[in-house]
Amino acid sequence: MNERAEPAPTVAVVGGGAVGVTAAHDLAARGADVTLYERGELAGGSSGRAAGLLYDAYAEDVEAAVGARALERFRAFDRTLPGFSFTPCPYVIAVREGDADADAVPAMVERMRGHGREVSVVDPDALGERFPSLRTDDLAVAAVAEGAGWTDPPSYVRALADRAAREGVAIETETPVALGPRTESGRELSIGEGEEDGGSGAETRAFDAVVVAAGAHTRSLLADAGVSVPVVPYRVQALVAADAYDGPMVYDATADAYLRPHPDGLLAGDGTEPVPADPDDYRREADDWFRADVATVLRERLDGAAAGGDFDPDASRAWAGLCTATPDGDPLLGPVGATGKTDPALFVAAGWQGHGFMRAPAVGEIVAEGVSASLDGTAFDAPDSPWIGAFDPARFDGDEEFEIAEGMSLSERTENG
Ligand SMILES: Cc1cc2nc3c(=O)[nH]c(=O)nc-3n(C[C@H](O)[C@H](O)[C@H](O)COP(=O)(O)OP(=O)(O)OC[C@H]3O[C@@H](n4cnc5c(N)ncnc54)[C@H](O)[C@@H]3O)c2cc1C
Repeated sequence: MNERAEPAPTVAVVGGGAVGVTAAHDLAARGADVTLYERGELAGGSSGRAAGLLYDAYAEDVEAAVGARALERFRAFDRTLPGFSFTPCPYVIAVREGDADADAVPAMVERMRGHGREVSVVDPDALGERFPSLRTDDLAVAAVAEGAGWTDPPSYVRALADRAAREGVAIETETPVALGPRTESGRELSIGEGEEDGGSGAETRAFDAVVVAAGAHTRSLLADAGVSVPVVPYRVQALVAADAYDGPMVYDATADAYLRPHPDGLLAGDGTEPVPADPDDYRREADDWFRADVATVLRERLDGAAAGGDFDPDASRAWAGLCTATPDGDPLLGPVGATGKTDPALFVAAGWQGHGFMRAPAVGEIVAEGVSASLDGTAFDAPDSPWIGAFDPARFDGDEEFEIAEGMSLSERTENG
């Protein structure tokens, strides 16, 4: 080892979900001395409750690029990451007759195709012929994205964390941290206590950079350091039922519900509650109305001989978890600071509007490249900066008031373009 070599920069990643683990892994691969802090167990937050739908069929340019890179890495991990697998499966977007969103589908598909995605508009009859397990007689239009698939989200987190640990990342689970002040030695963390304790814990450690990937806790964690971000948690729901299903993944845009094959039968979800939720005190069990809604959608969407006919919602394993919304539906990804003052040692990666898991491999990579570049002195808006301007946390004051929009809806996807 060269004695005069610069010491590796120290980076703390707060949050052991898909985003934090990917960022930690990729930062270590770029030579940083990384410690990952997770208040509970790995994948104990939203990543352990996600449905695992993976697709790159986005109309908007930046989202399409991020989605494509994420899927490329998921496929590569399928070959190289023990404990992780990606199951290819077409993704159908279905819009019912009478739904005004049907008119937007051809243009949306055209934009997806413009990004090189294998997506096509399909006539409902042709859809039914290709996928006999689907009922299509009530549909106005559908689109099929071929390059999609699904996985088990917690297995991704654990498998990548194992690899990160082998590559030198110190992984500290059951270790909540709070943000301390910025000092000459870097950004301080109070380690081993919750943010509710106000950062007066026993151990304090300074890092050259701190990445906050704390999911639904991101806002409260940063608030304690005087940094305000408009990242608002809301509740969504999913269930797994034992009914056999081997058809495509389906997003019924009119019903705002999705389903996919699952090793135990089928997984279905949405059940968005578009109101702010308290990440420390939300109902983790699914609501009866959600089970009943899913039962209706499955009966309407699936052929009776498949799962739909005699689906019993009470026989399912159902749960709720949190997603995070932002005023414009785009995430906050990059350096943050108190209003008007970006702190070169503090970064955030949050606000995925229901799409954080499927984007994690790309987002973690951007975090690693961006933090490394920032530590090397590259300005956020420099031409060669890896950060994405549209996701710049500084576009918000942090105290914006806004309505929570369901992240999968077609209007959300097409208007953002
Ligand atoms: C029912 C459901 C279905 C979903 N389906 C999909 C899907 O199909 N596809 C998709 O892309 N997305 C889906 N999502 C969204 C997805 O789960 C999230 O966008 C994604 O998991 C976010 O990952 P993350 O790493 O940012 O956050 P998280 O996985 O929540 O990780 C954040 C971690 O930070 C930790 N933490 C918080 N505060 C502290 C602290 N002070 N100190 C230390 N650690 C702390 C938490 O314990 C948590 O483990 C779904 C979500 C739900 C609830």
